[in-house]
Amino acid sequence: MDNTNNQPLGFEALGVAPALLRAIGELGFEAPMPIQQLVIPHLNEKEGDVVGLAQTGTGKTAAFGLPVLQRVDTSLAQPQALVIAPTRELCLQIAGDLADFSKYIDNLRILPVYGGSSIDSQIRALRNGVQVVVATPGRLIDLIKRGEVKLEHVHTVILDEADEMLNMGFLEDIEEILSHVPEQRKMLMFSATMPKEIEGIARKFMHDPIEFVAGNKNEGAKNVKHIYYMVKAHDKYLALKRIVDNAPDIYGLIFCRTRLETQEIADKLIADGYNADCLHGDLSQAQRDLSMKKFRDHVTQLLVATDVAARGLDVDDLTHVINYGLPEDVAVYTHRSGRTGRANKTGVSIAIIHSREKSRLRQIEKKIGKEFEYKKVPTPEHIIEKQIYHLADRIERVAVDDAQIGRFLPGVRKKLEWLSEEDLLKRVLSLEFNRLLAYYRDMPEIDLNESVHRDKGGKEKKRSRREKEKRDRDRRGGGMKRGGKAKRSAAQQVKAGREKKGKKKGYIGTPANEVQPRPNYNGNYDIFKKKK
Ligand code: AMP
Repeated sequence: MDNTNNQPLGFEALGVAPALLRAIGELGFEAPMPIQQLVIPHLNEKEGDVVGLAQTGTGKTAAFGLPVLQRVDTSLAQPQALVIAPTRELCLQIAGDLADFSKYIDNLRILPVYGGSSIDSQIRALRNGVQVVVATPGRLIDLIKRGEVKLEHVHTVILDEADEMLNMGFLEDIEEILSHVPEQRKMLMFSATMPKEIEGIARKFMHDPIEFVAGNKNEGAKNVKHIYYMVKAHDKYLALKRIVDNAPDIYGLIFCRTRLETQEIADKLIADGYNADCLHGDLSQAQRDLSMKKFRDHVTQLLVATDVAARGLDVDDLTHVINYGLPEDVAVYTHRSGRTGRANKTGVSIAIIHSREKSRLRQIEKKIGKEFEYKKVPTPEHIIEKQIYHLADRIERVAVDDAQIGRFLPGVRKKLEWLSEEDLLKRVLSLEFNRLLAYYRDMPEIDLNESVHRDKGGKEKKRSRREKEKRDRDRRGGGMKRGGKAKRSAAQQVKAGREKKGKKKGYIGTPANEVQPRPNYNGNYDIFKKKK
């Protein structure tokens, strides 16, 4: 598409077919996102392979998906496009998105194939004929070896999250897969970061690759604000609680470095009354599915996760990503922070660090080309004020069922008529906040800069603070969703199971398939098929 004026073009002008336009119109895609502006016309019209530097959330699935779907010959019931992704969750996500886009194209079938689920059903679906296969490398190789997937008609190969695939050691598998695909294929590779190895793959497997960059190389998502808090290492958890208490509507992912730390932080948050859950590799697939589903459905407000386990989790509306300490690898930070501020929304990526992590913070700043804003850990006074006004806000906005509530009003009014209006308000607020007030009473500053100036050798003060923390943990309930009793999370159940049996226990009665498929899943196992 010749766009000499450099004006952004609409989807139609980019050459997207009417059936696809109709579907994406229904999905609310009004204007192409930058990566779509770049990639769609290239794939539709030009020769040569493509390396796209794009974070998740930039719209890359539609960038490669729309042209690929458009190129499929629906009269041929053979795989013509192959999408390779590192995790089963990403596979399902991509296959689901492609199914949504191709809703109005007859006889176009998309099949996600991934490990950990029945290969027989996948074989059956393949035999019935699919044109787009979205696969994890290991399962695809298995199917190739069994002669169940034929790749001789594949004209387009997409490697998504290529840097993740390299991190997971899939390089050899990718080589093996590509050896079964015709030489003349068109190939696209998407990666959130651009390590040297990715350039190596491009050189080795791609023909005249053209590099598209959505944003700067290795840059964090544009609309993400990067903030750091600095505390002593042993105050990190307290800082986390304050940050969360200061954001009553938070919907956030908290990244820890190890499975153990992930479980510990989730356990502590749950014990302290927060609506939290965990996601890490020691959980069974069924438990991980359930944790992800609950988080996606906003049943859980805070998900504590390892980087590996969170790979497949795709959520658009995260308000916060919290780095409980900084990752060793700068690319990992880019991935973490890229999970917020997606689909043109704004997001916040927070790092809770101690002073020795400052140099790594600077390295990250250099790499992402953005500065972290230093913020003081919220003070108890500030948190309480924030929470009280948040409740006042909710009081103003709550829907009132006049007929139902009205019936009880006269009686309740009579009972409380001895209270003045001010007394009444004070009591309502106290009901909600007494525990929070007790927790934060006499709580010292934990911000490192503050505490350094404060009282350097104050062991007494430190000990009494610890005791107070412990005392108040029991007293404090409700957390963010005060008053309601949260359902037992996967983390709680694992913990309970451990305590009961002396070892970790599965999430009883929760098979993986209890996780609801997307609405366009046509009950026919994994096949994603369009519906009219
Ligand atoms: P992706 O990077 O492919 O995971 O896309 C991130 C999110 O942006 C997904 O929820 C898409 O549905 C959404 N999206 C993709 N393209 C557009 C667009 N042109 N307009 C609005 N939303 C979009």
